[in-house]
Amino acid sequence: MANIKGKHVIPGESMGTEEEFVPGLGTYVEGEEIRSSAAGMLSEEDRSLSVSRRNLLSSLRSGSVVLGRVENVVEPIALISVLPIQGGNVRFAQLPDNCVLHASRIKDGFVKNVRDELRIGDIVRAKISEIRQGEIHVSTEGAEFGVLKAFCIKCRHPLALLGGALSCSSCGNKENRKLASDYRSVSI
Ligand SMILES: [Zn+2]
Repeated sequence: MANIKGKHVIPGESMGTEEEFVPGLGTYVEGEEIRSSAAGMLSEEDRSLSVSRRNLLSSLRSGSVVLGRVENVVEPIALISVLPIQGGNVRFAQLPDNCVLHASRIKDGFVKNVRDELRIGDIVRAKISEIRQGEIHVSTEGAEFGVLKAFCIKCRHPLALLGGALSCSSCGNKENRKLASDYRSVSI
């Protein structure tokens, strides 16, 4: 098996077989497969596999690029659950605490209301700007950051980008977001 130490895993992910390894903390066995019972970081010692939850948070650094989902908007901030990215694949490993995105860090230029740029349920690419007392602050400033997938606030249909404007092909609603330059070209 490839080098697995330090790998982020999600609940249910297969990490190896009982032929190779011994199941440890944070794992369960299904058939012959040892799977993770938690979102966290995998470690292996003396052929025993275990998953540590906390290391997921501690593995994030200022400057890390993350995918997240907007869980709530409480002006002037959005609360975002982070989905760490690994090797181009999205890992839906929700952290225990949400990250904070302040209106002033959404884009270059003044943002009066978070809701003018982001809505609950949107998937965003963000950069960790600061980790302070366990609180993670993120930013979506810059062309590659911002909303990757948005949903109609009226009918929840995914919004399409047509002629530079976001619109709902189901109900015709037009909306605005701080978009990432590759909006909807990423499969999520
Ligand atoms: Zn709609």
